Amino acid sequence: MNLIMFGPPGAGKGTQSALLQKKYRIKQLSTGDMLRAEVASESDLGKRLKGIMASGQLVSDDIIIELIANCISEPECEKGFILDGFPRTLAQAEALDNMLSHMGRKIDHVIALQVDEEALIDRIHARAAETGGARSDDNAEVLKNRLKVYNDQTAPVLPFYEQKGLLRKIDGMQPIEDVSEQIETILENSKAA
Ligand code: ADP
Repeated sequence: MNLIMFGPPGAGKGTQSALLQKKYRIKQLSTGDMLRAEVASESDLGKRLKGIMASGQLVSDDIIIELIANCISEPECEKGFILDGFPRTLAQAEALDNMLSHMGRKIDHVIALQVDEEALIDRIHARAAETGGARSDDNAEVLKNRLKVYNDQTAPVLPFYEQKGLLRKIDGMQPIEDVSEQIETILENSKAA
């Protein structure tokens, strides 16, 4: 089973992806975590990524697409994967489609977490307080930019998957366990079908 976890910053993609990884034994691939690890390694690439991420802009499609292509061909993704934070542009979605069809694989569901903007702002402030500001992009100014980038570049990916009949909209305003339950219901029902 191959899933895409979709939603604006702070929607809960990472939280839900981690729960699904545990339950279904499919691999969570968080592009944000991978990029933060690259920055932490202080590699040349990491140094270039640092400023882009801190400002809330997107890293170039080429870098991200190569990163994902390498990950999904790993044995740990054989049983399936959950894309958390990818695709974030239409070009990324098209590249993903291409690479999967070459591999004879496909996406089964795109889980779109729907949360209103007010709640996102509150959640990200709470995360910044909890982590002591560990993420350079978790602050009010950068968040505004991340939401704008989401609306301008990422939200247009939704119709692409809607046309393919893969989009499953979930109410992301519910407590974590209730959101998980909504997702599991979708996955279990499609298994039985
Ligand atoms: P969130 O889901 O809270 O927005 P992420 O951890 O997914 O945060 O991403 C953090 C940052 O990493 C993004 O703002 C962006 O700079 C970069 N990034 C992550 N995924 C992608 C992607 N698919 N394409 C381009 N940049 C990305």
